[in-house]
Amino acid sequence: MRLTPARTLVLNLFKAKSSLLCAEDIEKLLKDGSIYLSTIYRALEYFEKESVLGKSTINKTAYYYLIDGRHHHYMICTHCLARFPIDCELEAMINKNITRHNFIPTSHDLTIYGYCEKCAKQQNN
Ligand SMILES: [Zn+2]
Ligand SMILES: [Zn+2]
Repeated sequence: MRLTPARTLVLNLFKAKSSLLCAEDIEKLLKDGSIYLSTIYRALEYFEKESVLGKSTINKTAYYYLIDGRHHHYMICTHCLARFPIDCELEAMINKNITRHNFIPTSHDLTIYGYCEKCAKQQNN
């Protein structure tokens, strides 16, 4: 992985925040305007390609989060962006289907979107 000063700034934000961030969030957090939005987008794409960040599209906006080593999936609240890790149980399903189609899987992703307990309660009010 090659870290430029701009990439380091972006990565440090994810390490400090441990939350979902979109490019505009990052631009706001780096409020001195030292990095162009286009540079932030390129840094995010780079980290996604390097599997440092995961990406989820919520309400048509691409949000990124730090991948913490172990493979798992997330449930994400589309209202407050709270994120809950869930264990991956897809291996059996994948193995069953690859033999049928002679498919060679290299990666997969799955994110469950919905409302967290707190936001679900607000929806019903
Ligand atoms: Zn919520
Ligand atoms: Zn998985």
